[in-house]
Amino acid sequence: MPADYHMHTPLCRHAAGEPVEYAKHAAAIGLTEIGFSDHSPMRQDNFDNWRMNLDQLAEYVEKVRKAQGDFPQLTIRLALEVDYLPGHEDWIRELAARHPWDYFIGSVHYVSNNWDIDNPAKLSEWKNRDAFEVWSAYFDRLTMAAESRLFEIIGHADLPKKFGHRPTRDCTPLYEKFLAAARKSGCAIELNTAGLRKDCREIYPSREILKLAFQKGVPITFGSDAHAPAEVGMNFAEAVQLAQAVGYRECCRFTKRKCRLIQL
Ligand SMILES: [Zn+2]
Ligand SMILES: [Zn+2]
Repeated sequence: MPADYHMHTPLCRHAAGEPVEYAKHAAAIGLTEIGFSDHSPMRQDNFDNWRMNLDQLAEYVEKVRKAQGDFPQLTIRLALEVDYLPGHEDWIRELAARHPWDYFIGSVHYVSNNWDIDNPAKLSEWKNRDAFEVWSAYFDRLTMAAESRLFEIIGHADLPKKFGHRPTRDCTPLYEKFLAAARKSGCAIELNTAGLRKDCREIYPSREILKLAFQKGVPITFGSDAHAPAEVGMNFAEAVQLAQAVGYRECCRFTKRKCRLIQL
């Protein structure tokens, strides 16, 4: 099974279980490599309520180090899921310099400074919006994230489908532009199985996007986006099957922000 590169910790305030418990579950289901990628802190702690505070970053690193110490049979990577917002580039570079990270997952949750589209507390905002306009704004930012060269992996590429909102207009040009940017900057995308546990009932990204990604030569990683230990590695067999079905034979692993290709 591939490495699970997307896992959270209680420091983000909406996940349960310590890193050692995630590692224990990973070992129990036969994974050999995992990576913690909790929600990155912002420069301002009051930015929102679903991430660690800046002064908890060292504690986060310690928790991951503890899991590494307790589970020497597992390779455990140190990473972050970093929010991409235009204008945050300098902050992301500052974060990158603070610890010897193995990789950064760049994710777009915010399509504007105050709307995080996947936040259940803001679900009603979708009623005021046209789905295609949201998808357009989202993929514009995702393309910028891919172009920024700040990230090794782009997270849950079609997140706007989470609650089941889908545009009727063809989004292929949005996907093409994003994937071309990812290819050009050598950025991978993840197969994120959390989508299967949401209203959309589908891995992020869709088979359609993944197929385009393969055709363009965009590499992949795998992530459960676990917010609890039992979610580690969840539905990975299905994800591997999907990747192979569109043509993938390899996936990426990262050490100190350098990619290594591994057979699927
Ligand atoms: Zn989360
Ligand atoms: Zn995310």
